[in-house]
Amino acid sequence: MSKILIIEDETSIAELEKDYLELSGFEVLMEETGDAGLKTALNENVDLIILDLMLPNVDGFEVCKKVREVKNVPIILVSAKKEDIDKIRGLGLGADDYITKPFSPSELVARVKAHLARYERLVGSGVKKNEVIEIRGIKIDKTARRVYVNGEEKAFTTKEFDLLTFLAENPNHVFTKEELFSKIWDMESVGDIATVTVHIKKIREKIEFNTSKPQYIETIWGVGYRFKV
Ligand code: CA
Repeated sequence: MSKILIIEDETSIAELEKDYLELSGFEVLMEETGDAGLKTALNENVDLIILDLMLPNVDGFEVCKKVREVKNVPIILVSAKKEDIDKIRGLGLGADDYITKPFSPSELVARVKAHLARYERLVGSGVKKNEVIEIRGIKIDKTARRVYVNGEEKAFTTKEFDLLTFLAENPNHVFTKEELFSKIWDMESVGDIATVTVHIKKIREKIEFNTSKPQYIETIWGVGYRFKV
C-alpha cells in the first residue's frame, strides 16, 4: 500500500484529502507544520507528498527544497494563490506538480495515482544498484569488484578480493585455513594452506590501520581466521 504524506495546516482541507485518499486505498500520514512535515518526510518511508505552500514555521518552498536534496518521491504542491505557480516554476524546486485551492478531492486523487504510477515506472526501470558490503569503513563493491578503505580505493588481486569478500560475507564465523583454501582456490590450483596465510597478510596490509593489531580479520590461534564485526 502506498503511503502518502499530507503537510497542511488547514485541518478541514487535510481531513478531506485524507478521506478521499484512504477511500482510494492509500495509507495517509498528516502533519500541520513545515518543520514537523519535513521531519516526517525525511524519516518515514513515504511514497508521495502533498505539500501546502503556506505553512507555519517552515514554508512549503523550503520543505520542498530540503526533501528534494535527499529524496526523489513525487511532490504535489498545493497553493492558495495562482501567483504562486509562477514562483514555483521560477524557483525550480523540483516539485512534480502543483494544484491551486480550491480543487476537487477527486482531481487530487487522480493526480496522486498518476504520479505514483510514473514514479514506480521510473524506479522500476532504473539501473540496478551495485551489490555492496559495508563494514566499519570498508566498502566492498561486489559488482565492480572494488574495495575502498575509508573512502580510498585499494588494489586487490582476484584471490585477495574473493577471500576478503568471503570473510566479510560471513562475519564472526571462524574458518580454518583448509576451509578457506578450498572455498577460494579451485582444485587445480597449485598451492597449499600457506597461500591463505600469505593472502591474509596482503589483505591486512591494505585494510588494517595496524597489521599487528588487526581490527577486521582476526587470527584465531590454532584454528584460523574470522572477520570481526
Ligand atoms: Ca496553509
